[in-house]
Amino acid sequence: MIILDGKKTSNDIKEEIADEVKSIIFSGGRIPHLSAILVGNDGASETYVNAKVKACEKVGFKSTLIRLPNSVTEKELLLEVEKINNNQNIDGLIVQLPLPNHLDEMKVTEAIDPKKDVDGFHPSNIGRMCLNLPTYLPATPSGILELLKRYEVNTSGKHCVVIGRSHIVGSPMSILMARNSFPGNCTVTLTHSRTENLKEITKSADILIVALGKSEFINSDMIKEGVCIIDVGITRVKSDKTKSGWKLLGDVNFEDVKNKCSYITPVPGGVGPMTIAMLLQNTLISAKGEIF
Ligand code: NAP
Repeated sequence: MIILDGKKTSNDIKEEIADEVKSIIFSGGRIPHLSAILVGNDGASETYVNAKVKACEKVGFKSTLIRLPNSVTEKELLLEVEKINNNQNIDGLIVQLPLPNHLDEMKVTEAIDPKKDVDGFHPSNIGRMCLNLPTYLPATPSGILELLKRYEVNTSGKHCVVIGRSHIVGSPMSILMARNSFPGNCTVTLTHSRTENLKEITKSADILIVALGKSEFINSDMIKEGVCIIDVGITRVKSDKTKSGWKLLGDVNFEDVKNKCSYITPVPGGVGPMTIAMLLQNTLISAKGEIF
């Protein structure tokens, strides 16, 4: 069994990006700049945004974190988005999701200039992805592709089963794995909570991508020998064995499946760090004007 090491791979990618930033500066170019909007003070969102800001510093990007109170109106938030859209010195804008209930996430996402939508969530960028046109790929699916690519996992002609159909992971993942490219060229089955006989389907998977948010849902009875498993899930559970008092669990029972699979991403240290690396990559692509 080979561990698909997202921590190491993401550090490699960050070093590559940092080298590019140095050469941009050397040739007199402008430093790539990512802006993030955080509404409210949800603990998990705060952690994710801080990790993104820290990653920007690590590669030499500029970053701006705009904190807005929970009580911000949709109009005020949209104004903030517009300001960043119009700022020629900012290459990428992310609005940390989820937003408080009184704010319409789709309306806010649609307000982001697609050229600065480095999360790849804007409908026009999703459409471009579906048509296989150059675009910013959503960071988590893009990170998974990058891991499969760098570990040279053979995907052509394989049966890829995706569990979960969210807009940010499962659905785009299923589209990308079916594309005529590497990684891709899979025969894809997209499953969800209404899927019947899930175990029969997962047992036929050569590549199993699990993104449903239920800790240790997949066990060795549900997979076939030699499967490549990508575990996207992150669930925080209490633990008396860690200093912090909690630990992260994936959607896959790692200990139970590890001797039966060919490749697996650990949690933590698998897909999570890759997501941030790909967000940086998208920001660099934007700064270089490579797509639009
Ligand atoms: P989500 O919006 O939470 O949706 C979960 C999906 O799983 C839905 O499509 C749901 O089906 C499906 N599902 C739920 N129970 C199921 C079951 N028993 N059998 C089959 N399918 C089932 O999904 P998400 O936002 O993609 O998040 C999934 C997990 O990935 C979470 O743990 C999240 O924290 C994690 N995540 C990690 C990263 C990272 O960077 N590592 C990034 C994003 C998300 P229905 O559509 O029918 O409800």
